[in-house]
Amino acid sequence: MKYFSLIALGFCLFVSCNNGSGNNNDTGDSAGIAPKTTATDTTTSARTMNTPEQIMAKTQVPVLCYHRIADGRKDEYTVSPAAFEAQMKILKDSGYTSISPDQLYNYLAYNESIPEKPVLITFDDSRVEHSAIAAPVMEKYGHRGTFFIMTITYNKKNYMTKDQIADLAKRGHNVGLHSWDHHMVTKYNDSDWVKQVADPQKGLQEITGKPVEYWAYPYGINDHKAAVELAKYMKLSFILSTKRDSTMPLQMVRRMIVPYGWTPQGMLKAMHSTFKSS
Ligand SMILES: [Zn+2]
Repeated sequence: MKYFSLIALGFCLFVSCNNGSGNNNDTGDSAGIAPKTTATDTTTSARTMNTPEQIMAKTQVPVLCYHRIADGRKDEYTVSPAAFEAQMKILKDSGYTSISPDQLYNYLAYNESIPEKPVLITFDDSRVEHSAIAAPVMEKYGHRGTFFIMTITYNKKNYMTKDQIADLAKRGHNVGLHSWDHHMVTKYNDSDWVKQVADPQKGLQEITGKPVEYWAYPYGINDHKAAVELAKYMKLSFILSTKRDSTMPLQMVRRMIVPYGWTPQGMLKAMHSTFKSS
C-alpha cells in the first residue's frame, strides 16, 4: 500500500500543536470541554473540572510527534532509527518521564500531579515500525508511547496488524485514534462522524480491550465546530504547533513534530522553546 502510505504521509504534513497550561482552581464543569466518552472514569466524576481559562493557563507539557522511523528519507516526517534512539536516550538522561494521555488529561482538567519533567511521545499513522522499532527502543529507556491509529491500515503492508496494536496496549503503551482514512475533520458530515470517529473508536477498543479516548487530528487540521463534536467522544484531541482555540483547550493539545536531522540536544532545545517548559 505504498500509494496509500504516500497519501497518508503527505497529509500529515500539516499537523499542529497546542497546549494548555494553567491555574489550579476549581470551577464548575465547563460546558463543551467535558469528555463524553465510554470511559469508565469514576475517579474523576466527583471532581470539579478546570475552566478553559484555567486549562489555557497551565504549563504546557511537551508532546513530541513522530511519523516514519526509517533510514533513507530526509524530511519532516522521517527520523532515522539511530536518531530516534539517541532522542529517547537523552530524554531519559535528562530526567524526562514519559506520561500517558490519561495523566495529561487529569493534569489539565483536574490539576493532578505529574512528574517534574513530563513528556508525551506520540506517533501518527499506524506504521509497522512503530511496533517493530519505536516501542522496543522506548521500553529500553523506560518510556511508553502513544500511538494514534488510522484504522483503514489494519493488516496492510507497512502498517501494524490488529495483533501488533493489541500487543502495544498490553505492553503499557497507549492507543488513540487518528480517524478511519485520514480525512480532515473540517469536512465531516453527520455520517462521517460515525465512519471516522465513532465506529473506529469502538473497533479499537475491542482490539485493545481498553477505552480509546484520545484523538490526533489528521493533518493537524481542526476548527471549533469539530472540536465541539470531538469532545463528545474524546477526552483530549491533539493538534500540531498551531494556535489553540482558547474555548476548547482539551480538544486542542499542541504537539511538535520531530523532523529528520535534529540532534538530541537540538530536540530538547526545541521542546523548551515550543512549549516554554524547563
Ligand atoms: Zn496522519
